[in-house]
Amino acid sequence: MADKTKSIRNAQARAHKRGLDRDGRTGRVQPDDSAPGGVRTDLVVRPVDIDLDGSPIVEVLPQAFLHEVMGHQPGAELGFWGAGDARVDLLLTRDTDDLLRLRGEVTWPVAHSCVRCLEPVTYTLEMPIDLRLFPGRADLLAGESVDLDPHNLKAHTVDDDDDEYAANLTEDEDFVLYPETGVDVVSVLREQAFLELPAHPTCEDPASDSPSPCVSDTMDHARKEAERWVDPRWDALRALSDRLKN
Ligand SMILES: [Zn+2]
Repeated sequence: MADKTKSIRNAQARAHKRGLDRDGRTGRVQPDDSAPGGVRTDLVVRPVDIDLDGSPIVEVLPQAFLHEVMGHQPGAELGFWGAGDARVDLLLTRDTDDLLRLRGEVTWPVAHSCVRCLEPVTYTLEMPIDLRLFPGRADLLAGESVDLDPHNLKAHTVDDDDDEYAANLTEDEDFVLYPETGVDVVSVLREQAFLELPAHPTCEDPASDSPSPCVSDTMDHARKEAERWVDPRWDALRALSDRLKN
């Protein structure tokens, strides 16, 4: 019993150290009925606001907010919508002054109508996140290629840290540009979600929560089966029966 109390106290101490509130969250998402999605968020982080040992972002994004984030329009048949609350457990750190790293785990439940039969298809994305973030102009975000070394760190030694940082860059890592206003964590996560999600969701998509045969397939299949099993020898009789009915 004493051990249990001690371990609870330790967990609380750890949570406090990470800046977590009583719900075990970082308090960046607050209920607000007047805001779209029902919450007010503080999820745009500027490098200067990041703590020395990193800023944790541990939050639950309610389904209604996820709905807004995924850009679902009421009445629209196509488009993703929030299928549950998203869970975010991230740590944002500064590798150098403005070169940042975002790491952690995100659960992002969304749904989309099957493009063939319009039945809802749900995806509970479990996204491990490990992104390097560079400052860059917003218009570059839309560009086709991202400069992996925008500060030309590989060519010039800015300082020892940056030099070492540049040496560790590999093309396998994921890079994201962030605007002057700071890292918009929700936008970054939305972008990552869209990279994971299929462009044309269907019932049988193996990546969906419960892949199943598409209704439109089973209907086609049933019709083809029915056509296949009509015995041509009955054609004359059926024609006679049709004539008698008329
Ligand atoms: Zn379908």
